[in-house]
Amino acid sequence: MAERTYLVTGGAGYVGSHLVLALVERGDRVVVLDDLRQGHRGALPPAGAELVQADIADRRKLEEVFAAWRFEAVFHFAALSLVGESMREPLRYCAENLSNSLRLAEAAVKAGCLRFVLSSTAALFGNPKRTPIDETADLAPTSAYGESKLMVERGLSWAEGAHGLRSACLRYFNAAGADPQGRIGEDHEPETHLIPLAICAALGTRPPLTVFGAAYPTPDGTCVRDYVHVTDLADAHLRVLARLDHGSCRYNVGSGTGYSVREVIAAVERIGGRPVPHHFGERRAGDPAVLVASSQRLRDDTGWSPRLGALDEIVRTAWAWHASHPRGFDDRSKA
Ligand code: UDP
Repeated sequence: MAERTYLVTGGAGYVGSHLVLALVERGDRVVVLDDLRQGHRGALPPAGAELVQADIADRRKLEEVFAAWRFEAVFHFAALSLVGESMREPLRYCAENLSNSLRLAEAAVKAGCLRFVLSSTAALFGNPKRTPIDETADLAPTSAYGESKLMVERGLSWAEGAHGLRSACLRYFNAAGADPQGRIGEDHEPETHLIPLAICAALGTRPPLTVFGAAYPTPDGTCVRDYVHVTDLADAHLRVLARLDHGSCRYNVGSGTGYSVREVIAAVERIGGRPVPHHFGERRAGDPAVLVASSQRLRDDTGWSPRLGALDEIVRTAWAWHASHPRGFDDRSKA
């Protein structure tokens, strides 16, 4: 069978690189478009993925890429994605995320590639009225980051009627964990996510963790989130591809189970066998008390289920990665 080729923007980043690995492992060819501002060359597999190092805002480069390959589908990860930063620079977030994404979609349509998978976010839902959150929940982002992704989703919806572009938008809850074989993991700078910060505090490679608020209306007073293993997330991307044959789709992707910040700290201590140095601080602006996904639609339509979903498995794989890469991907390139 002829090899299939996929374009993955932001494929050297955290979630993107786990998808690239999954595609390459099943025998597909991948072209990664990444400017390596956030991504890492070391996050790409040694064979099967070609890196085009460029900014997706570079229109000429986009045209070159679509002229050089014929893609089965586009997976679009490259985006500004820090909620806090988006509140300080809302115009940049909305403008860049929207224009880069829609230009990419336009280039795909022009080249006759009519399947598009967007890395979207639970931030579309803001402060949800009920939990778990399914796809019928109100779309009411409370950050410019969430708003920018909502605008992209809407733009893609318009493109289906006009151009036949079929899009799958996956609203991730809390992506976490690392490749179970330890080849790649999470390496953000700045790092803002709970699990890597708790692990690195325990390992002594980052300062003690500040827990943002202990008086939320939750059983132990700390925020509850739905952590989904990054390898399960990658699997969701592969599964929705087939679904696109039936038209565009929107899915919430989470494990369906919520864990509090205190429960995450306890899991890290249990698995790492060391205390997580931490203290309690102020709430972080914009943090809802509870965010838990219903992924029933994704399960029903694609047969997806979170195989590495348990919190301990997420923490175990993340711990293994951080313990073996105390300086992230730098270690690997220096090795
Ligand atoms: N959190 C925390 N301290 C930190 C980072 C995060 O207490 O240094 C909490 C945060 O308030 C939230 C949860 O951990 O309730 C998960 O936050 P993260 O930034 O990992 O993901 P988010 O839910 O914001 O997407």
